[in-house]
Amino acid sequence: MGMDMRELLDRAKLYYTENQLFEIEDAVHIATKAHDGQKRKSGDPYITHPLSVAATLIDWGMDSDTVLAGILHDTVEDTGLTIPDIETRFGADVAFLVDGVTKVSKARSGMRSLDSYLPQTKDNLSKLLIAVGQDIRVIIIKLADRLHNMQTLQYMPVETQKKIARETLEVFAPLADRLNMGRVRVQLEELSFKYLNPVEYNHTKRLMESRLKKSQRRLGHVRHAVDRKLEEEKIPHEIDGRVKSVYSLYKKLDRVDAVDDVYDLIALRIVVDDIETCYLVLGVLHAMYTPVFDRIKDYIAQPKSNGYQSLHTTVTTNLGQIVEFQIRTHEMHYYAERGLAASFHYNEQKLTEDYRRRTIAELPADLAWIHNLQIAAAKAREGKAFSADDLKLGLFSDRIFIYSPKGDIFDLPHGSLPLDFAYRVHSDVAAKASGFMVNGVMKPFDYTLQHGDRVEILTSKSAKPKPDWANLVTTPHAKDKLRAQLKRSGGLLHQIARAKKFLPRRRAKSK
Ligand code: MN
Repeated sequence: MGMDMRELLDRAKLYYTENQLFEIEDAVHIATKAHDGQKRKSGDPYITHPLSVAATLIDWGMDSDTVLAGILHDTVEDTGLTIPDIETRFGADVAFLVDGVTKVSKARSGMRSLDSYLPQTKDNLSKLLIAVGQDIRVIIIKLADRLHNMQTLQYMPVETQKKIARETLEVFAPLADRLNMGRVRVQLEELSFKYLNPVEYNHTKRLMESRLKKSQRRLGHVRHAVDRKLEEEKIPHEIDGRVKSVYSLYKKLDRVDAVDDVYDLIALRIVVDDIETCYLVLGVLHAMYTPVFDRIKDYIAQPKSNGYQSLHTTVTTNLGQIVEFQIRTHEMHYYAERGLAASFHYNEQKLTEDYRRRTIAELPADLAWIHNLQIAAAKAREGKAFSADDLKLGLFSDRIFIYSPKGDIFDLPHGSLPLDFAYRVHSDVAAKASGFMVNGVMKPFDYTLQHGDRVEILTSKSAKPKPDWANLVTTPHAKDKLRAQLKRSGGLLHQIARAKKFLPRRRAKSK
């Protein structure tokens, strides 16, 4: 059975304003009407799918625009509803999100029809999701969409199951990880693993269960001792066991000899109020037990590239038991579970500069867009004005995406010309370029490439780089390559020119 309207509205009631709820109900009516008569493979009415996606988005704490877009996400592709219809009824933001989701699936079916699901395209697909998605909320809707499709995968033919599961494992789970959405990443991985490799899945799961039975009781003692000690020290805390996922155990077993060598099958997780207390707790643990020195990891001072923060340490108890601890603040815990989705939370939480400094980690340059997004989201939460541009992915905003005939995607700056593309593909190919077919039509060398163009480079054996190409390339990469090629062949040209001058004189002489 699937999600129905009552259930969705009951859930929504807890988080959204009267007006927002009114819009949500309106969207449910419109989507129900639009999908009328369509069925899922399970036999459920189609509307159960978008309603489940919307319910997930509510659980993730997304803003009401995203929930509305979740309800409407398949209407433009699968029904008569149009983007202008949605814009008229729900405004430009919701229309933008639905448009993004629709573009992602259209672009993907385009890629599939090229039958180029080769290894290199999985990188393409991630790029595509980010590029076409533009607004990170589009990606978050796609993740919720994928999660529900994975949850209802049993109704698909086995071949389709495997294909979808592989794509989920290779593209969507890593994407969730990149956004530090730990909970959905684990859900996607477990489901994919189960469909892709049921034998290994069941084997690993049984291995884990038998091992857990052995260690749980002993671990209970450690947990109790730590709990009591922290109480003595008057450190407010929560302590919890977190069990490794079946898939991550499976991956780890690849690298270690036996399950007994996996020390973090269960980790004890201690959640405290602030960063100072995290280090304090680390000290307490190291006084109680013997730390395994090469296993202390300070992801607070040096967050992982997706913004994940925590202290990790592994200790040996006096009974020889090896236990991993993870220590973090409430904010870090919340962010680790929900990741970027947490930035859009419906809570009107007031953020101080201090909170922001502590909870928003510095990220490496290639992930700076996440940081900018967090700042934008924080502004939004504080009720400060922020422009829609704050939510766009700056990473690709000045780039266009060009497809090769095989479906590979190359990102280039705005204003790039066909030769820029050719030099990106390969400088030897560029050197032999004699013309360009853009979307099946011949275009001149000074044609300005447009986002989404499919460019075929025509080559000829006799073609070679010409000095006036210098005016037909714009990227530093292409300019460098061309200059080097001209220099090489320029040397040759110079010799030929000299030889030509020399020849007539000889002829003249011989007359
Ligand atoms: Mn869908």
